[in-house]
Amino acid sequence: MVTTHNLGFPRIGRNRELKFALEKYWKGDISEQALSDTATDLRIQHWQDQSMLDWIPVGDFSLYDHVLDMSFMLGNIPERVSSFSASNPIDNYFRVARGRSAHDAAVHSCVNAGEMTKWFDTNYHYIVPEFNRNTRFALNADHLLEQIQQAQKIHQQIKPVILGPVTYLWLGKSKDGSDKLDRLDDLIGVYVQLLDLLKHAGIHWVQIDEPVLVMELTQEWKYAVRKAYYQLQATPVNLMLTTYFGQLQDNLQLACELPVQGLHLDAVTARDEIDKVIDWLPGHKILSLGIVNGRNIWKTDLTQTLNWLEPVHARLQERLWLAPSCSLLHVPVDLDSEQKLDADIWSWLAFATQKLNEIEVLANALDHGRESVSGILQENSASVSNRKQSKRVHYENTKARVREINEAMGMRQSSYDQRSVVQRKQFRLPLFPTTTIGSFPQTLEIRQKRRDFRAGKLLETDYQKAMRKEIEFCVREQEALGLDVLVHGEPERNDMVEYFGEQLAGFAFTQFGWVQSYGSRCVKPPIIYGDVSHSHVITTEWIQYAQSLTRKPMKGMLTGPVTMLNWSFVRDDQSRAQTCMQLALAIRDEVLALEQVGIKIIQIDEAAMREGLPLRKSQWNDYLDWAIRAFRITANGVKDETQIHTHMCYSEFNDIMAAIARMDADVITIETSRSDMELLDAFNQFRYPNEIGPGVYDIHSPNIPSVDSIIELMEKAAQRIPVARLWVNPDCGLKTRTWEEVKPALHNMIAASRHLARNLSTGQIS
Ligand code: GLN
Ligand code: ZN
Repeated sequence: MVTTHNLGFPRIGRNRELKFALEKYWKGDISEQALSDTATDLRIQHWQDQSMLDWIPVGDFSLYDHVLDMSFMLGNIPERVSSFSASNPIDNYFRVARGRSAHDAAVHSCVNAGEMTKWFDTNYHYIVPEFNRNTRFALNADHLLEQIQQAQKIHQQIKPVILGPVTYLWLGKSKDGSDKLDRLDDLIGVYVQLLDLLKHAGIHWVQIDEPVLVMELTQEWKYAVRKAYYQLQATPVNLMLTTYFGQLQDNLQLACELPVQGLHLDAVTARDEIDKVIDWLPGHKILSLGIVNGRNIWKTDLTQTLNWLEPVHARLQERLWLAPSCSLLHVPVDLDSEQKLDADIWSWLAFATQKLNEIEVLANALDHGRESVSGILQENSASVSNRKQSKRVHYENTKARVREINEAMGMRQSSYDQRSVVQRKQFRLPLFPTTTIGSFPQTLEIRQKRRDFRAGKLLETDYQKAMRKEIEFCVREQEALGLDVLVHGEPERNDMVEYFGEQLAGFAFTQFGWVQSYGSRCVKPPIIYGDVSHSHVITTEWIQYAQSLTRKPMKGMLTGPVTMLNWSFVRDDQSRAQTCMQLALAIRDEVLALEQVGIKIIQIDEAAMREGLPLRKSQWNDYLDWAIRAFRITANGVKDETQIHTHMCYSEFNDIMAAIARMDADVITIETSRSDMELLDAFNQFRYPNEIGPGVYDIHSPNIPSVDSIIELMEKAAQRIPVARLWVNPDCGLKTRTWEEVKPALHNMIAASRHLARNLSTGQIS
């Protein structure tokens, strides 16, 4: 018999119950007991949802983040919260997670939150473990053991999920420059204790996640993997060594040879490697194949999967386990919650619950023959072929336009040096020109108006009027402050991707398709199901109206193709590059429409350009080639006098600086304030050729930057970039801030800019 299991289930709940309970707890509205009851109810519900499987996961649930849970289980708790140790442990947990616990809010005794960063190439963020040379681990597995007891009451076969020691170290950060790998021996000691405890709790199989095996590993790290698992070899439980998100490549042999009882591979992204793995894998080991994509929302083509799987099953027999490719954390919980989706599109999708059903069907087909599930297979084939042939998916005109893309479409008419002369003459901006990134505070009132309009409670004309009033207010405020290049403030936009997606063909939106981004924060990614095209202008009226209110240049504001792609669930029936080119043409139409109506400055946000980078550096160039090309197609069809801005919100782009320069935007604004302009070190090696606005105001914090601090940051920038090419702007959009914060901050920013313009002439600094 084929064995089925799951690597992890979404935690947040069908109706985001966990989010709401957490936020209430943090506000002090509910007790810890109430929060814990909600968490228990959710876990029980989720175990029941998985009852069709042979083995269900436990330990995949988390109140905030599973990596942070691991840190607490291993006793690796940052020193800065240990002075609070007399209080409740859950409060310390939230202090590390988010800088404060429920009880600190009132007394303002906050600490620095743990750093947060992306979990591999997903949109989930984890809290980075911290190490230093004095880090010692000490096991505290009470939470996990408690959950195991709860799960054992519900299901027979329980499989705890833990993060493996090597990946745990890999994901963490050494705070004092000491080598993280020096912590390995001590760490393994604690894992030995943990696995012993689990054995005593009646556990047979433990899923130990080592996704680090799909990364490019140095000899030292490979050695660490070997060492860790040889030292865990005597453990009394069976280990299912689990990898996902990519191929093993040169780690394949290593992964096969480790002394564990089972190996899980992502058979969606690493399908080509499976035959080789079966050849290598010793005959006593279990091979778990992740055959259902845990990161996307499309139904699996069950017949096609069986065509591939049956010979594999013939080779492996009882040694074959089936699972999703990775934890289902990255997809929404249940498609059955979606009542408003178009019926066709609905029939093409599978969320977490549906994906587990697919696994059950595949296992049945292998065990009892396809006939035993023939009805389901037929239905599945019908919806798979319906999607393939659907007129809603395929638009010949769009495909033809993509085929006709030529290099000239991505080229400006003249080089930056030439067109910047034209632009300077036209705009007559002062040195150190000031601007913002696009959005201004989204007040409750603005959100309410948008909601009412959506719900049909507000007439279109009244909505337009209300938004125009907001735009006018925003323009007046910017003029009063004295900004040089203005924006309309984006009051009409809920989200920078959703707003555009809703007006393009090829996008669908769910009602409850929430996916955890970090802690209690969830996103609802749009679904790109079909060829994307632009059928009507989206932004011109708003921007034209804003421009009519001022003589200063008004910056048109768009979201770029790569960001639209990276923040959506995308099609799996064509390459990402192909979908990105369609998006590029659609946004290009909007760029040209803005230019046509007389908008002279257009910003195309590529907030998520960097996060699409593949996990392996060897694949970066391929991605950057098409991503940058897509941006160029979007942006570069304009005349010399039109100034193109782009914006990126992250500070590590040293390693992709040359690619970013190839975008050839006239101006780029980037996040830098928190890193103290460290980012600009990259400019020592690479001379960025165009204009740049390093962010000087950390918009993620309520703090108001002082004039002096801004001057200091800009002086550092001016040491590396000619002053004639520097702009002064915040790190990112201001929509999450209040006007009370924004006004003094921008006031200081402008004062700093004027001071710099007076004191730093081009001659002084090169
Ligand atoms: N223009 C957008 C804004 O200001 C950019 C947001 C972002 O980069 N994440 O809100
Ligand atoms: Zn940003």
